[in-house]
Amino acid sequence: MTCHNCVVECKKAGKRSDGLQRYRCAQCGKTFSDRKDFGWIGHKQAVDENQALLALAMLAEGNSINSASRISGINKKTIMSLLVIGGEKCESLLAERVRNVPASDVQADEIWGFVGKKQAATGPGDSYRVGDAWCFIGIERNTKLILACELGKRTVTSATRFISKLATATDADTRFQFTTDGLNVYPYPVGNILGDRVDYAQLIKVYKFNEAESERRYSPAKFAESFSTPVYGEPDEDKICTSHIERQNGSLRQWCKRLTRLTYAFSSKSGSITARPWRSTSPTTTFAASTARRARRQRKRRELLTDDGP
Ligand SMILES: [Zn+2]
Repeated sequence: MTCHNCVVECKKAGKRSDGLQRYRCAQCGKTFSDRKDFGWIGHKQAVDENQALLALAMLAEGNSINSASRISGINKKTIMSLLVIGGEKCESLLAERVRNVPASDVQADEIWGFVGKKQAATGPGDSYRVGDAWCFIGIERNTKLILACELGKRTVTSATRFISKLATATDADTRFQFTTDGLNVYPYPVGNILGDRVDYAQLIKVYKFNEAESERRYSPAKFAESFSTPVYGEPDEDKICTSHIERQNGSLRQWCKRLTRLTYAFSSKSGSITARPWRSTSPTTTFAASTARRARRQRKRRELLTDDGP
């Protein structure tokens, strides 16, 4: 250990309370110690790694932050930062590993959530990030592999970021069929970024709203009819479908309390809401990508988090 100040070798001077070796410079009297290795949790977190994994596993299984905190005994705020760390690691893992997938049939949809409050309750003083938050998710139809996802408002900007991610995730030489809902933010970035790599169609679904409003809210709206609109290329009529991605989003909602609708479960920080879908979707993705058995999923999750890499 060398003194930063005097650039001379320091002598050992006892131990720190946490057991790390302490050194003292003979010239200036300053003390130093080795940097503690906190592993994947990072330098700020001094929580036990197994406890942290337990808390994350609980969140991934659909427990709330409060319940994870009560069971593991870890502070709520610590769990929230663990969630963000886990989410970011999943995000970079996906960005790194899910690349050049020779996908043939891709479906995309947005899943609704909100940050802080619902859009209707926001006022002029609120940040842009507060209010409704949409997570764009794109899956490969046959394997259900999640190719890309992006959290944001339902704007062309968010859609552009999402389509860029999708472009990196899919193989540039494989032409694929792409279906989204009728949201008007898609055609521009799809044409711009994916260009002649796709046969793109939009599936517009129409629902009946004839029941009393209050009743409708607690049950799904009745499906009336759907129109498929080819946008670019020559999409195969039989493959124009968003059912698989909608089913996937249903599962995501089922075990991700932040995204449950019409309940008291909500996210108050945009960091956590980003982390949450990632935390939930990434193991599924790595699972699908490696075609591992369901039983191995749990282990995969752990491997994912104990990795030194992303
Ligand atoms: Zn010194």
